[in-house]
Amino acid sequence: MKNILTIDLEEWFHANYHDDVFDNQKSYEVRILRNTERLLTLFEENKAQATFFVLGYVAEKHPQLIRDIVAAGHEIASHGYAHQLIYKQTPSEFKEDVSQAKQRVEDIIGTSVKGYRAPSWSITPKSLWAWEILQDLGFVYDASVFPIETYLYGLPTAPRFPYHPKYNGKILKLLEVPSSTVRVLNKNLPFAGGFYFRALPYPVIAQCIKTVNKEGQPAIVYLHPREIDPNQPRLTLSGKESLIHYYGINGCEQKLIRVLKKFEFTSIEKYYRL
Ligand SMILES: [Zn+2]
Repeated sequence: MKNILTIDLEEWFHANYHDDVFDNQKSYEVRILRNTERLLTLFEENKAQATFFVLGYVAEKHPQLIRDIVAAGHEIASHGYAHQLIYKQTPSEFKEDVSQAKQRVEDIIGTSVKGYRAPSWSITPKSLWAWEILQDLGFVYDASVFPIETYLYGLPTAPRFPYHPKYNGKILKLLEVPSSTVRVLNKNLPFAGGFYFRALPYPVIAQCIKTVNKEGQPAIVYLHPREIDPNQPRLTLSGKESLIHYYGINGCEQKLIRVLKKFEFTSIEKYYRL
């Protein structure tokens, strides 16, 4: 069966461990062009299709990159504009950020964007109001829920597979597509992207994908362009944050290639025929 591949299209410095990790007004080295071109080559070589959740900041600076991703047959979705945590924004700040980001991307690609993913999985018990705003803005699906609990994010009681969330007593039309987990000893464990993908050995990731597939569901793999770039500049982070951000970066591209060769991947839009 097919699985789902997703990329959060942001720069190497877009991290939310604390408030002042990055400043979008400053100028930083551009790494995203080379890293994304490399991903596009790997996806083409392995006949994989993906959903790219594009940060508005990136779309504004590199519109041709977005056109190249579309030309390669991938889905374009939104990752908001400025990579700020939802639960640290007011509903009106969030609405402004996302509508601006959606518009910018749609102006480039000429069609409407169906999906959204929050920076750092920041739809949590504190920011469930975001779903209704996303639906009002015309999104068909959201992929911001991680049904686990961490110190930065998570909605541990959420269903593990796609569902229509309930908010204020109403079942929303918006489809929620949560990040993949496996059930071990009555707990949801993450494996399919970011730190977990970099930290776990390939055989464990492959086994987890097969386990999810045996439940009749696609695994949803997620990565960032920076995760195949061992030579990126390093952010000033605490020991724990550095571990989360950089652990396993040297072997990530080779692991991704093995996963792409073993499993078939498509986009969220195509998988769910949205
Ligand atoms: Zn992000």
